[in-house]
Amino acid sequence: GDYQLNKIDVTDTTCEYCAVGCRFDVLTKDGKVLGTRPNHEKSPINGISTCVKGKFAHSYVNSDDRLTQPLVKEADEFREATWDEALDRVVEGLDSIREEHGADALGLVASSKATNEDNYVMQRFAREVIGTNNIDNCNRLCHAATVSGLSSTVGFGAASIGVEALEETDCYLITGSNTTEAHPVIATKIKQNVKDNDAELLVFDPRKIQMAEYADQFSRVEPGYDNTWINGLIRYIIDNDLHDEEFIEERTTGFEQVAETVEKFTPEFVEEKAGIPPEELKHAAETIANADSCVFCWTLGLVEHSHGTENIYAIANLALITGHIGEPKSGVSPFRGQNNVQGGGGDMGPLPNNFPGYQPVTDPENRKKFADAYDMDRGEMPDKEGFRITDMFLAAEQGDIKGMFIQGENSLISEPNIGHAREVLDELDFLAVQDIFLTDTAEFADVVLPATSSLESNGTYTSSTRHVQLVKRAIDPIGNTKPDWKITQELAKRFGYDWNFSHPSEIMEEINDLTPIYGGVTHERLEALGDGGGLQWPVWDEDHPGTPYLYEEQFQTTDGLAHMHPADTVEPSETPDEAYPLVMTSGRVLYQYHTGTMTFREEGDMSYSSKSFVEIHPDTAKEYGVSNGDTLDITSRHGETQSMAEITHRPSPGEIFIPMHYLDGGANNLTKETPLDGPSRSPEYKVTDVRIAVAESD
Ligand code: SF4
Repeated sequence: GDYQLNKIDVTDTTCEYCAVGCRFDVLTKDGKVLGTRPNHEKSPINGISTCVKGKFAHSYVNSDDRLTQPLVKEADEFREATWDEALDRVVEGLDSIREEHGADALGLVASSKATNEDNYVMQRFAREVIGTNNIDNCNRLCHAATVSGLSSTVGFGAASIGVEALEETDCYLITGSNTTEAHPVIATKIKQNVKDNDAELLVFDPRKIQMAEYADQFSRVEPGYDNTWINGLIRYIIDNDLHDEEFIEERTTGFEQVAETVEKFTPEFVEEKAGIPPEELKHAAETIANADSCVFCWTLGLVEHSHGTENIYAIANLALITGHIGEPKSGVSPFRGQNNVQGGGGDMGPLPNNFPGYQPVTDPENRKKFADAYDMDRGEMPDKEGFRITDMFLAAEQGDIKGMFIQGENSLISEPNIGHAREVLDELDFLAVQDIFLTDTAEFADVVLPATSSLESNGTYTSSTRHVQLVKRAIDPIGNTKPDWKITQELAKRFGYDWNFSHPSEIMEEINDLTPIYGGVTHERLEALGDGGGLQWPVWDEDHPGTPYLYEEQFQTTDGLAHMHPADTVEPSETPDEAYPLVMTSGRVLYQYHTGTMTFREEGDMSYSSKSFVEIHPDTAKEYGVSNGDTLDITSRHGETQSMAEITHRPSPGEIFIPMHYLDGGANNLTKETPLDGPSRSPEYKVTDVRIAVAESD
């Protein structure tokens, strides 16, 4: 009756899709998710806005094919098992490899979708229980080059600004970011500022994305030549005395070297290599240099390259020589992808080189601090850096990694070169996968552990703008699922470790003690914040209010100065030739999220974009005799796939675009597992030479 109809539960929580960090109320009834509604009071970033995913895409939680029971494989078939049996099998599988080949023959993958608390516990499990630093996560496949580039120049591998800057700056340089599709709520704020306040918008991208339509200047970049045009801007600015000498003098080192390095990036050179006409270079350089404030925004188009870290050095140098950093409305703003890749994927230390809070594992003081806290003998704490996820897959191919434990990551599709990932997963002696669905990766597992989804979990996520925000359980765990941290704790117990967290807030207390930038982030404080909530790290202690923007007075380096690094690489690792004359770039579409584990189960989303496609320019289509809707054979030096042609002016002639979400027809059937970016070990997803042909019909 009416009473039942009214019995709807309301829980304020943080969106589990992208890292913009929108919050809203989730409405549930009898354990089913009904939808969401705005909650202005508790949503410091988005207020009353959400995008299509945040608004509608939560029914996957109640999907019929959720994993509800642990699975173990027998004679190549899965059968249901009790938690006891499944956990014992995981312990046995991991332990036998460790006994025979050592702890470093195991690789662990944490999940940037999971909470900070889940990830913290997972890194502790790797180090304390397994005894290895071979732990990593999907940050490696997205913004790792941002982290390596920014941490060695300005200090923190994170956005220096908050949402206010994105709403109020005078100028945006957006590059390699399809903002309207990948970070829709931020895109709306930017468009609003451009419209209402005449903020300048400069978009540099290989594709004529929607953001280009709102831009004062759209410049089409040759894929792989970002360093070239950014260095070109720097050269123009220095040559024309538009740089901020006072800022450079007082707050930076390395200017002379940068000035010398950019010498060769003349307007003619930039046009030849990166395809940017001199007048566009000039207009962008003058706009940035003359603006009172400027925000530099990027996503994966700038970083997923064989010299991604250099691209970040370059854009950081541009921000530094113009003095556009360390102010409320100026700074660097990488838009992070997964909901919690900033926190769970980075800050919490499921990383082969860092403990939580970016404290290097190679520093004996840090090892002592964590070993003491974990009640370990100091000598037991693994002291050498572990494998990055990309290197883990290469090491597995060589037989140096024998077993893996993958939490909430669909590596088969997200790793570069699906063919390579398939071989590696297939060859492992032991694989455990923990997820909410039987993903394409989980199919390879010996044991599958069913985890709770975001809407059944408690904890925190950290947004792109460093806001740590609460995630709250809106419905009870479905079936026999358990929260990630709890599963990890039960494994640790089976290995003989006495872990006794009873709630994620207790895990956060341990994080407070060991992670200075999260020193004062407690669940109690977050709960009490209300309007304007969310604490932006660093939050050094209980009384610290958080940090809306970084580097006001000092950079986070040993001497407090920003260290500019020259970046002079020009060419990507592949160049088109007769056999592979076209260049493929990849990216996301609005209605899908990463490998589609969740969004493919949303009827609404799927009806918009259920299949992969390949964008192809009309001129290229004409040259190859392609009509709209044709199935194309696409072949790279690394793999092949088929996808449906969509003729559009978005890519330039000579380039094609394929989304990354799909197993069939998706971009990663064509990408390569090497070479990797030196410092970050990230793959070059964004430049792949291909040839195309209309597929012969059966
Ligand atoms: Fe969720 Fe991102 Fe959409 Fe906001 S913009 S509702 S965080 S997917």
